[in-house]
Amino acid sequence: MRISDRYTQATETHLPVFSFEFFPPRTEAGFASLYRTVQDLKLLDPDFVSVTWGAGGSTRQKTVEIVVRIQQEIGLTAMAHLSCIGSTPDQITKTLGQLTAGGIENILALGGDHPPEYEPPPGAFTYANELASFIRTQSDFCLGGACYPETHPLAPDSETDLRNLKRKVDAGVDFLITQLYFDNADFFAFEKKAREIGIDVPIVPGIMPILSAKSIRRMTSLSGAGIPNELQAKLTEVENDDAATCDVGVEWATLQCRELLDKGAPGIHFYTLNKSMATRAIFEKLRKG
Ligand code: FAD
Repeated sequence: MRISDRYTQATETHLPVFSFEFFPPRTEAGFASLYRTVQDLKLLDPDFVSVTWGAGGSTRQKTVEIVVRIQQEIGLTAMAHLSCIGSTPDQITKTLGQLTAGGIENILALGGDHPPEYEPPPGAFTYANELASFIRTQSDFCLGGACYPETHPLAPDSETDLRNLKRKVDAGVDFLITQLYFDNADFFAFEKKAREIGIDVPIVPGIMPILSAKSIRRMTSLSGAGIPNELQAKLTEVENDDAATCDVGVEWATLQCRELLDKGAPGIHFYTLNKSMATRAIFEKLRKG
């Protein structure tokens, strides 16, 4: 299934698209746990799942293996993330061939992050729009891209970031998934500005339920996401109690999802962190209304 078709259908039928993101584990035990989580979340009938692309070399091949296995053996539509930084065009072509051979039709085309002492390989692309254009010259994948309601951390300002986002869409990206964020006002303001400059593809909110105090620190330092005062106050009340923190996170993410869906978001992309519990809990709450 081409994911863009499902988003088009969602706009027509008002049936939102739900998707779950996973990352390639580093250990055998991690793989066993990942496939259990995927099986567990399959019961929620997601429209698709996605698997991240490792920033370092070691997990890259794993992304291809995992998406192919999830799609062929577990029977869920799977999207591979693919970043261009660190790869030559030939390496990207090889990966595209492996994905095609595995029946994968959907790619999240990313620029990616490089380590501080980065020496680009010959011919390497820097930005996601270059990767999207390159893929378009070779094959007919359905392409997603990343976007940032609170502005990409390296962009000089939000207007420049939006103009760069438009280049990515003009290069052939069919839909956008946001970075995690905790304040829907940021999403709505960003979506409005994106529409004003002619970005007309579906923009899908990416939601990450807070699982523990440690996970909040990690996720906010990696993504730059701000924590609204109201959420911060709730988290301070339950400091050092991971179970209670997770409950606060589920409650907050559920409220975010309800408002987003009520206001017409085409779907929700959940950052699962390879765990099923919080995502299941949010789904149950959403179903109860
Ligand atoms: P780009 O779109 O290339 O943008 C990066 C920066 O460059 C921005 O500041 C932008 O304004 C600027 N820019 C863009 N195009 C141009 C241009 N043509 N000229 C000048 N400036 C430009 N990381 C991983 O390592 N693996 C993953 O699987 C992964 N999955 C992700 C999924 C989602 C939904 C999101 C939101 C992020 C993900 N990331 C992942 C993180 C991502 O790699 C980083 O945020 C990275 O810094 C930017 O990637 P991008 O595709 O947004 O890059």
